[in-house]
Amino acid sequence: MGRARARNEDAILQRPGRGILAVADGMGGHAAGDIASRIAVDIVDDRTAHLPEAGAGAYLRDTVRAAHDAILRAAEADPELRGMGTTLTILYVDPEHRATIAHVGDSRAYRLRDGTLEQLTTDQTWVQEQVNAGLLSPEQARGHPFSAMLTCALGIEETELEVQILEHETEPDDLFLLCSDGLTARLHDDDLRLLLLEHSEPHHAARALVDAANEAGGPDNITVGLVRILGEGQEDGPGQGDGREQG
Ligand code: CA
Repeated sequence: MGRARARNEDAILQRPGRGILAVADGMGGHAAGDIASRIAVDIVDDRTAHLPEAGAGAYLRDTVRAAHDAILRAAEADPELRGMGTTLTILYVDPEHRATIAHVGDSRAYRLRDGTLEQLTTDQTWVQEQVNAGLLSPEQARGHPFSAMLTCALGIEETELEVQILEHETEPDDLFLLCSDGLTARLHDDDLRLLLLEHSEPHHAARALVDAANEAGGPDNITVGLVRILGEGQEDGPGQGDGREQG
């Protein structure tokens, strides 16, 4: 929930058996933000019940578009929900341990490998465009009054939906982090890296990240999902899938 918000507009979907993790961060008045993020992860849940053997990137892109359309339809049907939207970041680790990410908005996917934390997704925000153009430094972007202004989100008709698709080979012990901006608004990437290195067990690491964001003020909802890639012969965690441990 964070420390300042009365509602949780974030939603998370964890389906370890399928290799699916998704994070959505909703926006909109009344309960609309909660509804938008919930619709998004429900569509991901439905559409990933049967994943294709090939073409995961195209399939996830269609999944994001289906969620976008579902949110628009729900908003058309209920005036109270007009203008609701959400971010959506999906990670799929296939049975060969290849990772595919589909992304819209300013939630993020990171990968920790050999002690180095890399942000894989690009924020679709006004400040990120300014950083890309050399008009703001990353530090200025973080504290900027417009830091939360998205240039793209599901459910928003005014801008064209631009789905980022990323495909990565993985290595044993790679750790993927998906999070809403409530985690990254106050914590620097190096804070995240140190906490992930300090807590090797994913459930403990996720808890430590959320606690740190709350200790830094917790102005927003905070959502964290972690996936560790296991190597040959490594034990899965209790009740987990086939070499794709989540926390
Ligand atoms: Ca947020």
